[in-house]
Amino acid sequence: MSVFETVFKPLLVTLRELDVATTLVLLADILAVAYLLYRLILLAKGTRAWQIMSGLFLFFLLMYISGKLGLTTLNWLMRQVLPLGPVALVILFYPELRHALEEMGRLGFWGQSINPIGRENLTTVVNEVVRAATEMARQKVGALIVFEPYPSLDYYVSPGVPIDAKVSARLLTSLFYPGNPLHDGAVVICGDRIIAAGCTLPLTENPMVDQNVHMRHKAAIGASERGAVALVVSEETGIISVAFSGRLQRGFREDNLRERLINLLTAQPPKQALESLRQTMRWRPGWIFGRREQGKGQSVQTERR
Ligand code: ATP
Ligand code: MG
Repeated sequence: MSVFETVFKPLLVTLRELDVATTLVLLADILAVAYLLYRLILLAKGTRAWQIMSGLFLFFLLMYISGKLGLTTLNWLMRQVLPLGPVALVILFYPELRHALEEMGRLGFWGQSINPIGRENLTTVVNEVVRAATEMARQKVGALIVFEPYPSLDYYVSPGVPIDAKVSARLLTSLFYPGNPLHDGAVVICGDRIIAAGCTLPLTENPMVDQNVHMRHKAAIGASERGAVALVVSEETGIISVAFSGRLQRGFREDNLRERLINLLTAQPPKQALESLRQTMRWRPGWIFGRREQGKGQSVQTERR
């Protein structure tokens, strides 16, 4: 029997029997599932979960092929492992599942941008941050600034010292001034307020991150995997980087930093998704199987501008 006879013919018959109301319900069902899957893939992309997912894909492919080739023992063995699957998945994906549920609880998941203040206020905040960052870069003062969509410090390893002050370049530079007790760790900004300083962020666990990326930058990527946008000034090199959606872009100057931050902080999810897609297209297929991109002396996770 051809594929048409076995698959498409019964499908066409079923489709013909559907009335408009049922079709609409089915469409809504399919769209809801597709949207959820799309959001889950966006959350998983670039994290450990992505590797686990490619491992699972290979497992099922091998099981299918072993069945087709009549490798009965291998196929039997793989089938015995299957019932353990759901428990193993919950254990393996525990951090990602927790993160996904937290994300769903945030409005950001449902379509709001990261910026809870108006465009005009945002420009003022970004100008102050950019001024502080370029000044600190010039003096090679290390800094980590996180833009949070909500005034919550729940996921921080240590929430640091609460501060409720208007964002200003002078305050930021003094907070990171070497010798200041709060200069270690991250400053967290929500809207136009600095809400805390000296915060310890969860580090990224993404194994794809280049080995040359150290704690401050890993902490920035970690925060960006949780929906924040993070800015880093390297103490060693004075290079300014921005982390968003689990990626790190390096080598910003004053003008393009301002533009980048405003874009990221006002971006709506479709724009963010396009940006993610654009980045993904640049990556090599080897990435899926966990190999590092060779040649540029940097991991696929980071890029220089
Ligand atoms: P740099 O280029 O500035 O040297 P780096 O990426 O090489 O940064 P480290 O040299 O390891 O990173 O930076 C150490 C500093 O990063 C610490 O002094 C601390 O201020 C900050 N840092 C390290 N871990 C965290 C964390 N989990 N959360 C926030 N800040 C952190
Ligand atoms: Mg260092």
